[in-house]
Amino acid sequence: MIRLTLPWLVFTALFIFLAGILLAWISYAIARRRVEKRKLLAWTACRVCAFRYKTPPSSSPTRCPQCGSLNEHHPLRAL
Ligand SMILES: [Zn+2]
Repeated sequence: MIRLTLPWLVFTALFIFLAGILLAWISYAIARRRVEKRKLLAWTACRVCAFRYKTPPSSSPTRCPQCGSLNEHHPLRAL
């Protein structure tokens, strides 16, 4: 049997609780960043008017629906 004093028991329980919250927070942030990155792969920013529009990932240039200029697909970067 492990003998602990009351302050150590409280400290250990609090440490485990806070470590769990920190781990959940970090894993949620990583998952959210992956989803955002995957979403940005399908979007193209126009080089002329900076309008963002959804395109299929292909190598052919697409026409901007706002100004009509041709743009090559480059994945957007997260801020
Ligand atoms: Zn445009």
